Amino acid sequence: MHLNNQGDSRRGLDYTPLFKFLLSRVGDDWDVIYSEAVARLDKIEPIFWMVAKNEAEKKPFFRAGESAFFSGLFVDAENKLSMVDPNLGFEDMEPSCSCCTHTFNGIKFLRPFSTN
Ligand SMILES: [Zn+2]
Repeated sequence: MHLNNQGDSRRGLDYTPLFKFLLSRVGDDWDVIYSEAVARLDKIEPIFWMVAKNEAEKKPFFRAGESAFFSGLFVDAENKLSMVDPNLGFEDMEPSCSCCTHTFNGIKFLRPFSTN
């Protein structure tokens, strides 16, 4: 399915490099990561689709596109970027349909689509 930049930009796939960048920096100091991320973005909102701003926003994963999912992140008490659920992997994810290639952090889901 083609996704363009018009309309619901939240569903655009253009921020995949940002999400992969943030994932690659888990464990690093948030202030450093944030300033590097901001420098390459046209707007800062997409950072906070992935990184929770407070306890209530913390989620194990989020949907970045039609069938692309990424880990939810947060900043811990030591100002380090962390995963909300480090044990969650692509092998745990259930596809919601059979027609799309679902990915988690860029890796294809292991489980097939099931109607059960
Ligand atoms: Zn589909």
